[in-house]
Amino acid sequence: MALGEFALIDRFFRRPVQRAALGVGDDCALLRVRPGLQLAVSTDLLVEGRHFLSTVDPARLGHKSLAVNLSDLAASGAEPLAFTLSLALPRADEAFLAPFARGLLALADEHGIELVGGDTTAGPLTIGITVFGEVPPGEALLRSGARPGDALWVSGTLGDARLALEAFRGTVALAGEGFEQARRAMETPTPRVALGRALRGVASAAIDLSDGLLGDLGHVLARSGVGAELDEAALPRSALLAAQPAALQRTCLLAGGDDYELLFAAPESHAQGVRAAGAAAGVAVTRIGRITAEPGLVVRDAQGAALNLRGWRGFDHFAAP
Ligand code: ADP
Ligand code: MG
Repeated sequence: MALGEFALIDRFFRRPVQRAALGVGDDCALLRVRPGLQLAVSTDLLVEGRHFLSTVDPARLGHKSLAVNLSDLAASGAEPLAFTLSLALPRADEAFLAPFARGLLALADEHGIELVGGDTTAGPLTIGITVFGEVPPGEALLRSGARPGDALWVSGTLGDARLALEAFRGTVALAGEGFEQARRAMETPTPRVALGRALRGVASAAIDLSDGLLGDLGHVLARSGVGAELDEAALPRSALLAAQPAALQRTCLLAGGDDYELLFAAPESHAQGVRAAGAAAGVAVTRIGRITAEPGLVVRDAQGAALNLRGWRGFDHFAAP
C-alpha cells in the first residue's frame, strides 16, 4: 500500500535528535552551533540518469547521496553536524524507501550527523541534501590558498569509479570481484571527513574530487592564481586499475569523476604533518606534484614528457551524456 507524505516521513526519516535542539516535524529545525564556531554549509543534488543509474541498489544510493555531501564538509575541514533531505519520488515505494533510508542513516550515524528536516514530493527521482558543519573561524580549508612551491597531495586511490562507469557502458570488460570492487568505488565512496579535519592548519588549500582530477585541480589553480605540475606515474591507483591498458588508466586517473578523495596543497615544510594526518585518519596520502608560480597545468608522463592536455576536461553535468 502506498504511504502518504507524512506517514512516509514519520516512518523512514523521523528519529529523535541527539545534538540538535529540534529535528524533523516542525517548520524549522533548530541546530546548536558551539559558540564562536562558523557554520559550514554545502548542497548537492543527485538526479537519476545524471548522477546515478536507475539500476543502483537503493541502500547504496542512500549512502552515496550523503557521502558526496560529507565529502564537501571534508574538503573544508569541517565537522559534520546536521543535514536536510529533499526528495522527489515517482511513488512512495517502501521497497525503495526502506533500504534507501537504511543506507543513508547508517552513514549518518558513522559520522554523527543528524537528519533534521527536508521536503518530500512526487516527481522524477531526485535527491537534494544540504549538510551543515562546524569549523573554527579562519581554519576552514579553501580552494584559494595554494602557493607556489607547495606540494600537491591526494588521498586514497583514483579512477576506480570511472572504471566501473566504463564497465557499465560496455567499453571495458570487468569480471567478478574486479567489477564488484570498481562498482563499490562508484556506488559507496568513503568521504574523507577525518582527514579533512586533520589537515586544518596543515594544508594550504583543498578540494574534493567529484568531477575528475584535471577539472577539480583546475578550480584550485584558478582560485589560487597559480599553476601546477603533476607526475602521472605518481598518481595512486588500485591494483585493478593498474592492470588495465595505459590509455584507460590515464582517462580514469585524470578525468575519472566520482572519486571523492581529497586533493590538497601543503607547504613542503608540512610534509610530516600531512603524513601524520593521513596516519591519524587511516587513509593513504600520496604526493603527486607541486604548485608553480607560472599559471597553467603540466602533467608529465613516466619519461618526464609533458602530455598534450588539449581536449581533456572535467566532468560537466550539462554536457551530452
Ligand atoms: P512544510 O509544510 O513546512 O514544508 P512539510 O509538511 O513539508 O513542512 O514537512 C513536515 C516536516 O517533515 C518538516 O519538519 C520537514 O522538515 C520534515 N521533512 C519533510 N520531508 C523530509 C525528508 N525527506 N526527510 C526529513 N525530514 C523531512
Ligand atoms: Mg514541505
